Amino acid sequence: MAGVTSPGHDASVRGDEVKRGVMTEASVDLCVIGAGAAGLAASIFAAEQNPDLTIELLDGAKTIGAKILVSGGGRCNVTHEAVTPDDFFGTRHLVRNVLAAFPVRETVAWFASLGVDLKREDTGKLFPVTDKARTVLDALLGRCRELGVVLRSGHRVTDIVRMCSHHESGGHESAHFLIRHQEGEVISRRLILATGGRSLPRTGSDGSGYELARRLGHRVTQTVPALVALMLEDSCFHHGLSGLSHEVEVRTVVRGRSVDRRTGSLLWTHVGISGPVVMDASRFWCLARERGETAEVYGNFLPGRTSEQARDWVLAQSAESPRRSIVKTLATSIPERVAEALCRQAGGDPQRPSAQVPRTIRDRLLANLTRFHFPVRRDRGWNFAEVTAGGIPLEEINYRTMESKLVPGLHLIGEVLDCDGRIGGFNFQWAWATGRVAGRAAAASLAQAPSDEQGESTALKNGRT
Ligand SMILES: Cc1cc2nc3c(=O)[nH]c(=O)nc-3n(C[C@H](O)[C@H](O)[C@H](O)COP(=O)(O)OP(=O)(O)OC[C@H]3O[C@@H](n4cnc5c(N)ncnc54)[C@H](O)[C@@H]3O)c2cc1C
Repeated sequence: MAGVTSPGHDASVRGDEVKRGVMTEASVDLCVIGAGAAGLAASIFAAEQNPDLTIELLDGAKTIGAKILVSGGGRCNVTHEAVTPDDFFGTRHLVRNVLAAFPVRETVAWFASLGVDLKREDTGKLFPVTDKARTVLDALLGRCRELGVVLRSGHRVTDIVRMCSHHESGGHESAHFLIRHQEGEVISRRLILATGGRSLPRTGSDGSGYELARRLGHRVTQTVPALVALMLEDSCFHHGLSGLSHEVEVRTVVRGRSVDRRTGSLLWTHVGISGPVVMDASRFWCLARERGETAEVYGNFLPGRTSEQARDWVLAQSAESPRRSIVKTLATSIPERVAEALCRQAGGDPQRPSAQVPRTIRDRLLANLTRFHFPVRRDRGWNFAEVTAGGIPLEEINYRTMESKLVPGLHLIGEVLDCDGRIGGFNFQWAWATGRVAGRAAAASLAQAPSDEQGESTALKNGRT
């Protein structure tokens, strides 16, 4: 997991420091900050649990749901047929418990109940049958409308103050949140923070939620781009292979130690390497570099074969067809253009008969084949990253309710938390699952609130503007 960069300080204004009387304007039962996948899900589940609640969903963006619309290449990979803790980077037992609270089959049924039927692709990814992300967004927004959730776009939240009210009758204190946004303030009995991470900031997910959480006393671990393409040094041959994809085993080595090894489709691009296997591996390179550690990425273009096995294979091929060029020989296992680039990189002539390739060149070529050092210059950055690695530590959250262990009444969900999934619908599943747990828990806790707090809530509601 990511290391802690900023030892969060105590909430700037804590309940015990500020005691205010009940305010009588713009007060709601539940305020959800962030109308992305997690915030929309939380609002729906809270409202379904208790239709009488007043719920306000605030988002800083002018246009709601931009990230859902661009997801999955515009098709929205809603979830995956098999979701396990192994598909995530985050404190394992906490991730497992959260996922168990909303299994995939229930997610599929929930979407069907919203009018979104999902279909499975060969990879196990689930998409809407319409192949349109718009179907997913419209269904979520439509359900919010049906349930009376008040959705306010262009309401960027700038500050949250936790306040306490003293109840004469019960002698206890109940918490409220004063939420300051671009257009004014709202007071809420419960708060769900669903502000996402830092990926694709133009959609509104600019990382400001981390600061809000920090000010309330939470820590935030280092945040770096994940599921992001890697850019290679200009001197590398990637330009000539742009658009080509094939199976590669990618290994990330940090401070001389192998930290990740995975096989999948690698896509060569005009600036470097991408494709699922690179995107999934990128978080390790990004985290290491952020920490100032040496990090290297290696490729095995003959996945599953060791360098000895690769040597044996090349020698056997050369013995069988000695006059066949080395590039044609390699092309029986890897794309010809890649074989040609690797030969040239090793200083060899791709057209040379394989049996005549000098030993030094052959050794260099074999090293390139199974342990190619990708000269990574940098990652493509937040504008291209699909998710954020790092965030608010899961240890600071009660996984049964997604409620903060530090700030009662505050729930935290989705990408703002220190948990990121691999490519394939897992990040949305995390958003839906955490949203459901928090929405239901917040609604349930409001139903159980002491009668004087509920009375106060009625007074708050009556005083709404
Ligand atoms: C290009 C791309 C493609 C992707 N494709 C997939 C895919 O197919 N499948 C998959 O599983 N995952 C995919 N992901 C990842 C997935 O979209 C995210 O993990 C998921 O959307 C996170 O949901 P969230 O609700 O936690 O955060 P977000 O979706 O980021 O939503 C956060 C919301 O909070 C709002 N906000 C932030 N700060 C404030 C503030 N201070 N005040 C008010 N509002 C605020 C933002 O405007 C935003 O609307 C993709 C991501 C990208 C960038």
